[in-house]
Amino acid sequence: MIYAANFKTNHTRKSTENYIVELNKKLQAKNTEDKVYIFPPSSALGTYEGDFTQGAQNAYAAQNGAYTGEIGVDQLDEFGIKTILIGHSERREYMAETQEKVAAKFAFFKEQGFEIIYCIGEPLEIREKGFESVMQYLLSQFEGIDSTYENLIVAYEPIWAIGTGRSATVEEISTTHRALKKAINEKPLLYGGSAKPANIKEITSIAGVDGVLVGSASLDAESFSQMVLS
Ligand code: PEP
Repeated sequence: MIYAANFKTNHTRKSTENYIVELNKKLQAKNTEDKVYIFPPSSALGTYEGDFTQGAQNAYAAQNGAYTGEIGVDQLDEFGIKTILIGHSERREYMAETQEKVAAKFAFFKEQGFEIIYCIGEPLEIREKGFESVMQYLLSQFEGIDSTYENLIVAYEPIWAIGTGRSATVEEISTTHRALKKAINEKPLLYGGSAKPANIKEITSIAGVDGVLVGSASLDAESFSQMVLS
């Protein structure tokens, strides 16, 4: 299983360092075949050691240059970072990343050989229209995306389940993952949306779920490691 912690705009460098010290202690008991990822905010990226991979929540599609407020590949290289989240619904919504922009970013980081965790997910009004609409919406988020890319991991994150405390049901995750798996050439597929210690076992037991992308419940090292060790 894959367990990925997305800190979003939470944690400082100091608290990330403390988190990693605590996490590393807990991860000594982790199954070797499970994989852990940590996505700190840009200001807390560092040269951390442990049984996990550090990734970037975002970066600009450039090696370096005049892109005020952004970081590029040079800044990620400094910490040996070769994993990036692309297409998160918060970036699509708050940072106005259109499918076209997301696809261009994907193409750039693919060219750089990055491992990409590519996020997709439907809003509530689409889910309420039924499964066919959901799949149509999700598949439209693959426009311009090379779903055969060897370093691709997909994260299915229904927007209505993100940060709301309301996870998708087992049935919703199961049917959506089954359909998505076919569409993405059986690439690893994570679920994201209010995953937490109380529901992690249920979620990771669903066929077609290869792991979880966790926001809120990943902010506390104890809670996240409980999930990893579940
Ligand atoms: C996310 O935003 O990737 C996420 C899954 O958040 P949460 O776990 O808080 O729903």
